[in-house]
Amino acid sequence: MTLHRSNHPLVAHKLGILRDKTTEPKKFRELVRELTWLLGYEAMADLATRPERIETPLEPMTAARLEPRVGLIPILRAGLGMVDAMLELLPSAEVWHIGLYRDERTLKPVEYYNKLPDAATVQVCLILDPMLATGGSSAATVDILKQWGAARIKQVSLIAAPEGVGTLSTAHRDVDIHVGALDSHLNERGYIVPGLGDAGDRQFGTFAGPASEPGHGPDDQTAEVVRRLQRDQAP
Ligand code: URA
Repeated sequence: MTLHRSNHPLVAHKLGILRDKTTEPKKFRELVRELTWLLGYEAMADLATRPERIETPLEPMTAARLEPRVGLIPILRAGLGMVDAMLELLPSAEVWHIGLYRDERTLKPVEYYNKLPDAATVQVCLILDPMLATGGSSAATVDILKQWGAARIKQVSLIAAPEGVGTLSTAHRDVDIHVGALDSHLNERGYIVPGLGDAGDRQFGTFAGPASEPGHGPDDQTAEVVRRLQRDQAP
């Protein structure tokens, strides 16, 4: 596993404003977009290029063309806020949606939406989730993408918890993880601490959701997942 933690001052600066509880959804969305540009730029630094002959107005030259086809896979729902920014960097990227929820009994992610075609249409997949918290959804998404035939998979997150990095890297050592910050830990409700709260609510302004939704009121399932993770990953 390679954990790439950005040390760019712009990332640190923007993350500070993003985390601030007084930052409103409009500004929050702008920052998610800008941070996605910066982290996406870093995450794609090792993509292969092939030479291509072109002509400038002055003379012919050999230019570079991005070689692999890239797929974007947002983790619903908070990952949706990172898609447009990535598409601005790479307009030819394909966006594939995979829907997962957690089974109440097993606490494992269950797939409820997947329209991937039979064979992989991209070589590099970027999984987008602002918060790499427990890592359960990301690890399950990687399972699906590997079965699909994706050759290379990277996770791009604005903030990660050590527990999420541990889950994903244990399940899939070959996945590169690009983050803007690695925070202290998960609390018993599965929030990253110090984190920024619920990235979905803060982007979409949904602060009054039903108590049963993640991020609203106590969530026993999440608490169980966090206890299990912290027990399993204790040194
Ligand atoms: N998802 C969020 O939106 N925030 C967290 O802190 C953890 C998971």
